[in-house]
Amino acid sequence: MGRYDFDLITLGAGSGGVRATRLAGGYGARTAIIEKSRVGGTCVMRGCVPKKLLVYAAHFAEDFEDARGFGWSMGPAQLDWPALIANKEAELERLEGVYRRILRDNTVRLIEGSARLADPHTVEVDGQRYTAEKILIATGGWPSMPSIAGIEHVITSNEALDLPELPRRIVIVGGGYIAVEFAGIFNAVGVQVMQIIRAGNILRGFDEDVREVLAAEMEKKSIRVMRDTVVRSIEKHSDGYSLRIDGQDDLLETDLVMYATGRLPNTRGIGLEEAGVTLDDKGAVVVDEWNRSTVESIFAVGDATDRVNLTPVAIAEGRAFAETFFHNTPTRVDYDNIPSAVFSQPPVGSVGLTEDEARHRGSCDVYLSRFKPMKHTLGGRDENTMMKLIVDRENDRVIGCHMVGADAPEIIQGIAIALKCGATKAQFDATVGIHPTAAEEFVTMRDKRPEHDADLGKC
Ligand code: NDP
Repeated sequence: MGRYDFDLITLGAGSGGVRATRLAGGYGARTAIIEKSRVGGTCVMRGCVPKKLLVYAAHFAEDFEDARGFGWSMGPAQLDWPALIANKEAELERLEGVYRRILRDNTVRLIEGSARLADPHTVEVDGQRYTAEKILIATGGWPSMPSIAGIEHVITSNEALDLPELPRRIVIVGGGYIAVEFAGIFNAVGVQVMQIIRAGNILRGFDEDVREVLAAEMEKKSIRVMRDTVVRSIEKHSDGYSLRIDGQDDLLETDLVMYATGRLPNTRGIGLEEAGVTLDDKGAVVVDEWNRSTVESIFAVGDATDRVNLTPVAIAEGRAFAETFFHNTPTRVDYDNIPSAVFSQPPVGSVGLTEDEARHRGSCDVYLSRFKPMKHTLGGRDENTMMKLIVDRENDRVIGCHMVGADAPEIIQGIAIALKCGATKAQFDATVGIHPTAAEEFVTMRDKRPEHDADLGKC
C-alpha cells in the first residue's frame, strides 16, 4: 500500500465521475467513487435518459394522428401514464446495474453515502475516513430557483420525470432546454401547457432563427408562451395553485407549477472551501485546462465546474483527466464546435456559431431553407423544418449549422464532424445528397439570404 488508501477518490458517480474513475481503475490505479444517490447521476437517472424516453412516448400522440393520412385507421389511442413511468423506472434500474457492473469490472470501489472533504487528501463518509493522492469532484449540478413566496410548492425536472399522474394544466417557468423539452412532452400527452418566460423569447443563446421558428411551432401545437412575464408569488389551494404575475391584477390558476430556471453546481457543504478550493460566485470549482482546482490534489469535471454543462462534455473531461494523470497521456478537452440538441417538439440541433456571433467576428453568408417535410404531405401536419448554414466569407468555411425539425439532433451530429474538420461550403456542395431526406438540404443550399433580410433578422 502507498501513502494513501487510494490513488483516486471521486465524489459523484455521474457521467463524468464514472468515466474518469473507471478509466483510472482500468489503467491500474487504486480507485474509489462515492455516491449518495443513484449510480449514474443526473443524465442517466434524472435527466437526458428518462427525459428522452418520455419524449419518445409523447411523440406517439402525433404519430397516431399522422398515420391516418397514410391510410391507417384505429380507435382512439390512450396513454397509460403510470405504466410509462413504471417502464421508464425499470429501464433506469437496468442502467444503474450496468453502471455498477462497469465500476466493479474496473476495480473501482463504490462507497455509498454523503462525502465531505476533511483535508486536501481525506474524505469522510458517514464517520469513516478515506485518503487519496488525488480527489476528483464530479458532483454535478442541481436545479436553482428564484426565492419567491410559495416556491416550495413547485416541482423541478426531478419530480416531473416521476409524476404519479398527469395534471390537467401545468405552468412551466423558464425558457431554457429543460422548460422547452418538458413543455413539448406535457403538451403532447394532453396537458394544457403555459410556459412563462421572463425574456422576449425562449432559448437564449441559440440562433435567433432557431428561437423564432421553434417558438412558432410550439405555439402552433397549442403551447402558450407568455413572454416578458415574471411570477411574483405562488399560492397553494386544495385543488391547485394561483400565480401572481408582475403587473397583472388577475391571478393565474393552474394544477401544477414546474420551475426550470437553470441549474447551479452542486458544490456547497462538502468541505471544498475549507480545504482551500476556490469556487466562483455560482459555486463552480475553478479549474485549469487540466481540470486541476486551486488545490494541487483536488480536481473537478462536469457541471461542478460550470464550463459547458452537457453530458458528453463531462465525459470528455473525465476521460482527459484519467488519460493525463493515470495513463501518462496529457489530454485537454477541445471546446470548439460542441454540438447540442434540444429535444423539443420539433427538436433542435445546433453546432458552431449563431448568426449574431458570426457577424460579430466578421463577414459571413447565410443560407436558409424552410420547407414542409415529406412525411407531413400525407400526414397533413402543419409543421415546418428550418435549416441554416453560416459561412465565413473570407475562407468559405461553414462555421454554424442549425436546424429545427424532425431528426435534427441525429442530422446535426454528422454535420458536427464536418465542422470539426473545417469543411468549406464548396465541400458541402460537392457532397452528394441522400434522396429523399431532409438532411440532403444541407448539401443543396445554393442561394444566400439577401443582406437586407439578415438585417431584419428574418428568413
Ligand atoms: P438554462 O440555463 O438552459 O435556462 C434557464 C432558463 O430559466 C432561461 O430561460 C432563463 O431565462 C430562465 N431563468 C433563470 N432565472 C430565472 C428567474 N429567476 N425567473 C425566471 N426565469 C429564469 O437552464 P435549464 O434549467 O433549462 O437547463 C440546465 C442545464 O441543463 C443547461 O445548461 C443545459 O446545458 C443542460 N441541459 C441540456 C439538455 C440537452 O442537451 N438537451 C437538456 C436539459 C438540460 P433567460 O433566458 O431570461 O436568462
